[in-house]
Formats: sequence, C-alpha cells, structure tokens
Amino acid sequence: MTEPLHQDFRVPKGKRLRLKTTPTSATGPFADKDEAKLFTAECIKKIQNLQYKLFVEQKQSLLIVLQAPDAAGKDGVIRKVLGRVNPQGSTVHSFKVPTEIERSHDFLWRIHSCAPPAGQISIFNRSHYEDVLVVRVNNLVPKETWQRRYEHINAFEANLADAQTKIIKIYLHISRTEQLQRFKSRLDMPEKHWKLNVSDYSARDQYEDYRKAYEEVFARCNPDHAPWYVIPADNKWFRDCAVASLMLETLQSMNPQLPEPQVEVEEIRKLYDAELAESTQQ
Ligand code: ADP
Repeated sequence: MTEPLHQDFRVPKGKRLRLKTTPTSATGPFADKDEAKLFTAECIKKIQNLQYKLFVEQKQSLLIVLQAPDAAGKDGVIRKVLGRVNPQGSTVHSFKVPTEIERSHDFLWRIHSCAPPAGQISIFNRSHYEDVLVVRVNNLVPKETWQRRYEHINAFEANLADAQTKIIKIYLHISRTEQLQRFKSRLDMPEKHWKLNVSDYSARDQYEDYRKAYEEVFARCNPDHAPWYVIPADNKWFRDCAVASLMLETLQSMNPQLPEPQVEVEEIRKLYDAELAESTQQ
C-alpha cells in the first residue's frame, strides 16, 4: 500500500488550528496493527534507498523538526522510524536547556550549526521552537523578546530552504488522558524510573499554556517551504506509520538522483573479465 497518509495532517495555512478539536487518535486504512507495521517496514526500506541517493547526490539536505509534549513518543519515533537510516548520512540533535555559553549567544546560534549539510539528514529532537514554547510558558525571557522570535524563525528557515534544505516539522499530538496513562505506567517499570520528573506533574497546570503556545507557532510559522504536520500519536503504531509515510513522501518529492557514471562501465567490465580469466588460469 502506498497511500499518502500524511496529507490530512498538514496544518492548513491561514486558518488557526485548534489542538483541542484535532484528533489525537487514528487507525488510518489499516485492518490491524500487523498490517500497519508491515506498511511502516515497507516505507523504511524505501526511505533507506532514497537516503542512499541523497547522500551520494550531495546537492540537497533534509531537516526534520520533531516537537511534542512529554511522553508523546519522540524517542520511540526516532528509534523506530526517523533514525532507521544509514548513520553516516544522518544525525539526531537533541536540544536541552541551553548551556551558559549557548545562552550568551542569540537563540539560533546553537541551532544553525546543526542544520544538515548537502547530502545529509538532520533530525531535531526539540528545536528552536522551544524558544517560543518552554521559554514563553515559563516566562524565561520578556514577552517582547519571544514575540520577535517568530519572525527570526521564519527568516532562518527561509534561508535554509534557499540553501536546498527541505524542511518538515512534526508535532506528535497526544491526549491528556493518554499522557497521564504513560506517566503512570512509568511507575510500574523500574527501568523507566529515571524518567520520572517532578516537572511532569507541575507541568499539568501548564497544559493549556502549551496548547496556546503551539497553536501560535502553527499559525505564524507554517510556510510551504517549512510546513507543520500534526500527527495523532495516542496510537503508537499509527504514529509510526504516519511519520514513516511523511518522511518517505518528502524524500520522494526531493527526488535525489545518482550521479552519472564517469567511466564506460562496459569497457571496465571487459577489463575485469579478462583479468579474472587470467587469474583463474594461474
Ligand atoms: P526530552 O524531554 O526531550 O527527552 P529532557 O528530559 O532532557 O529531554 O528535557 C529537555 C528539556 O530541555 C525540556 O524540558 C525542554 O523544555 C528544555 N529545553 C529545550 N530547549 C530549551 C530552551 N531553548 N530553553 C529552555 N529550556 C529548553
């Protein structure tokens, strides 16, 4: 099956998307989980093939920005889909609380150096959008400062797009109930206890603030050259299908080409045949 799953998930332009009424759950055209997993595996094979071409072509690059509330599955989707490519041609960059030196620069300083060079894929696990999300919700800088950042972000992304970087931005959308269930399930898994964080519980009060902050991002930073996709993520296997399909379609639209051979292949084949014949006679 090659149905383009992601088309429904593009945030429409010029219309304010309401996260509250946007579905967090979907099953798509799949009869069951096994069928969906097969679809994801098929997409990944095709992605790997296209990544090879992108890597060899050395002309364009791909930036995938991944944002999500806690426990929405960023790590899972990187492990199971986005990161399933040749590590020589792709890098995952995780953006944490800025260090002192990062904070002493403009907010895009640490981001720009992680943008993918020609032939490469960069996956941003969190991104420059934190500077209008967590920063806004927690009042880490004055409002006048974060308000100006939307324009800086748009200019930055336009600059990357001009330099042959294809950009897609993915938001994993989970319901509050699913998020709470995932937090709670961590209590029953000792190997996940390290993930427990008091701020997950205090962030409860900020749920609405984050929703508003994301909606503003979608409204103000969603041009065709750097579109947002809101992926229903309550259902992990559907989330993986949708992201795999989106990544595949993006690479297909980039249409990377292998360079033409610089030699006469048939001439070289004759030389090898002759040499092989000689070496087997010896
Ligand atoms: P993750 O939740 O992505 O798995 P961590 O648990 O290490 O990784 O959390 C990273 C933290 O860094 C998040 O709380 C995020 O909000 C914070 N962070 C990222 N970028 C910024 C920023 N620019 N300013 C402040 N905090 C940030």
